[in-house]
Amino acid sequence: MNKTIIVSNRLPLQVSIQENSLEISPSVGGLATGMKSVHSEGKGIWVGWSGIPENELSPELSQKVQQEIRKEKCVSVPLDNQDIEEYYEGFSNRALWPLFHYFMEYTNFEQQEWEAYKRVNEKFAKVVIDNLDDGDTVWVHDYQLLLLPQLIKDQKPNTTIGFFLHIPFPSYEIFRTFPWRQEILKGMLGSDLLGFHTYDYERHFLSSIKRILRLDVNFNEINYHDRMIKVDSFPMGIDYDKYRNAALKHHSDSLEKSDLRKRLEEHMIEDKKLILSIDRMDYTKGIPTRIKAFEFFLDTYPEYKEKVRLVMLAVPSRSNVPQYQKLKRETDELVGRINGKFATVSWTPIWYFYRSLPFEDLIDLYISSDVALITPIRDGMNLVAKEYVATRTQGNGVLVLSEMAGASKEMNEALLINPNSYEDFALNLKRALTMPLKEQETRMKFLQKRLKRYDVEKWANEFFKSLEETKQVRNTTI
Ligand code: UDP
Repeated sequence: MNKTIIVSNRLPLQVSIQENSLEISPSVGGLATGMKSVHSEGKGIWVGWSGIPENELSPELSQKVQQEIRKEKCVSVPLDNQDIEEYYEGFSNRALWPLFHYFMEYTNFEQQEWEAYKRVNEKFAKVVIDNLDDGDTVWVHDYQLLLLPQLIKDQKPNTTIGFFLHIPFPSYEIFRTFPWRQEILKGMLGSDLLGFHTYDYERHFLSSIKRILRLDVNFNEINYHDRMIKVDSFPMGIDYDKYRNAALKHHSDSLEKSDLRKRLEEHMIEDKKLILSIDRMDYTKGIPTRIKAFEFFLDTYPEYKEKVRLVMLAVPSRSNVPQYQKLKRETDELVGRINGKFATVSWTPIWYFYRSLPFEDLIDLYISSDVALITPIRDGMNLVAKEYVATRTQGNGVLVLSEMAGASKEMNEALLINPNSYEDFALNLKRALTMPLKEQETRMKFLQKRLKRYDVEKWANEFFKSLEETKQVRNTTI
């Protein structure tokens, strides 16, 4: 029986080493959940980095880590500190990430980091190939591994390879500025199926293929080296039942209320509305713009002073990259200025948390908020928007969502806004705060139905089904 190898930058587990003890705990992220049927139920394995730099491990410990990881059906790719610095923090997060999110002014193209990116992709290829049998299927994930499909295909042409990009693919005019544009596209074309979150990203990719590589594209198929490569969109979903069931549990009396929940409820009793935003502290998420737009809202509709509160959770991220440090400073200053401008003895307009919260606290935030304000400047998908909807088990609540988030393509019943327009923002926030309950319920119902049907497992299965079909097509044309 053939197996499937899943490949991502990080393995879906946390490794911690203290003194002489080694602890491995599976992580419960959305991707790991979606992959469950492909990974844990079959003969599948997962290849990725363990999170521990190889140069910090003795050869004995390294072997022990590998053995323990193997028990979880995972295989680690040995990366050292220099790899992480140049390939991950460097090329992936300082060149690819900003460019693919249209932040051209933040991109930093360094030859040395490009060399590291190639070197690390080759390291991944070696581990995959060492574990590969003829006829296996490989599913590669995300922008850190754009060269990997071709590296595998070159050595093992009989392998079925799928690739999924979890961030946007930019328009041709942006992508063409990339110094290694041909190499990146050719790397991706080692795949038999390429998946994107939205139809727009798929179109952008195909247009770069046509204009940069001058290849024949027929609808969503590319003819390349006598192979047909399929390109399609698969919007990633969430583990809908997990969020819904957690919310139901929090609403029932079976769970003791957390301090956070009690504070949130006190707030609601005072007839104030809670507006929630949750993001990683990333410049793509539009945090400073949102704060300034909120100021515009309070200036334009002063009747909402003391009546609304923005609870803003910003999760620390990539904090050794200078642009992220600058963003943190800017956010701190803006929150301080706006709270200083509007606060009264009994009211602070923004409650700002710079940390990550445990799952149960996230659920409390989701279920206690009248409005979710998710306004990224650019976002591949945005799962927070979907999680908010899944937890609204009582049917109320309004989602204000940026048009620039991939999620907006499937969430038409949200109030969709251009996050750069303060007027659009303020008008729609007011609309959300005054929306009749009936209308909230109708919109929620549509959103929930769609998210329940196309959850993360369905997403993974649809991609996988489509990938297997490419194998059948190849077999019948040989
Ligand atoms: N999240 C988390 N801890 C927190 C806040 C958020 O684990 O304290 C999760 C959140 O539930 C969501 C994910 O982080 O699943 C963020 O995913 P999203 O697609 O919205 O944005 P990304 O961070 O991937 O750009």
